[in-house]
Amino acid sequence: MSFNTSTQPPIAIIGCGLGGLALLLTLHRRGIPATVYERDASFDARAHLGGSLDLGWKSGQRALRENGLQDEFDKHSRPEGEEMRICDSTGKVHLKLGGEDEEGPGGPPQGKEDIRPEIDRTVLRKLLLDAVPTHLVQWDHALSSVRALGNGQHELTFANGITATCDLLVGADGAHSRVRPLLSSATPQFLGVNGAEISLAPSGGDAAWGRGAPYESMCAMAGRVAAKANGTLEVCVGPGTPQAAIKRFGSVAASGEREG
Ligand SMILES: Cc1cc2nc3c(=O)[nH]c(=O)nc-3n(C[C@H](O)[C@H](O)[C@H](O)COP(=O)(O)OP(=O)(O)OC[C@H]3O[C@@H](n4cnc5c(N)ncnc54)[C@H](O)[C@@H]3O)c2cc1C
Repeated sequence: MSFNTSTQPPIAIIGCGLGGLALLLTLHRRGIPATVYERDASFDARAHLGGSLDLGWKSGQRALRENGLQDEFDKHSRPEGEEMRICDSTGKVHLKLGGEDEEGPGGPPQGKEDIRPEIDRTVLRKLLLDAVPTHLVQWDHALSSVRALGNGQHELTFANGITATCDLLVGADGAHSRVRPLLSSATPQFLGVNGAEISLAPSGGDAAWGRGAPYESMCAMAGRVAAKANGTLEVCVGPGTPQAAIKRFGSVAASGEREG
């Protein structure tokens, strides 16, 4: 498909997160001009934040595959959590998902279509960013207000004082979107529940570490503990976690006993 760029309406995408970037790349590869406006000063501003995401073959990976990034995704992702057991602190299995002996219609994973590899959020964002020309992303452009001009056009005002007009506006600016109010009165609600996940890795790559006494003692303290195949313990701390347990995790992490 080809487009006459001289008559192409300008498309503004607010937010340089995964959604905004995936759309920018999709449009760019099909010859449709668009610009992303992002509030962060640069890619590095929050590059240290964010965990990892699992992407399915038919969903997240499809957006990458159809934009020529499947090989890059394969290179930077890893299988994780494809098998899951929920056990109590005695090791008794209460739920089993995935694995060679999985029963039921799904059966064990056969190929790429059946698994959901994990990729670090920052790595995925960089991978998408590197696939588009740099001038298509305007950093340090926090959208502060939008004014409808009619005929679908909008005037955008950014916190840095710059204004721009677009013929098509796409809101990809996250949970507290400045664009969403144009379409909906819905607002995000805080439900008053906080949680944190603490990762305690075995020193020296001892994969058995997470299956023995540390697992049981963490279970006894926190209740929700996941032992990963590489021995790492993922401890979920929430409102029900006793204060003493949180202090103990803190001291374990601070003492350097285990890498967190
Ligand atoms: C803990 C957690 C785990 C998750 N795990 C998975 C997973 O395993 N697999 C999966 O597929 N999805 C997962 N998700 C969901 C995934 O993160 C979101 O679907 C995805 O990030 C949405 O992309 P987005 O671009 O719409 O928004 P975001 O990624 O939130 O990006 C929004 C961008 O907009 C920018 N912005 C905000 N306000 C403005 C403004 N006023 N002006 C300009 N820019 C602005 C922000 O700085 C940011 O860069 C998870 C989410 C969370 C919170």
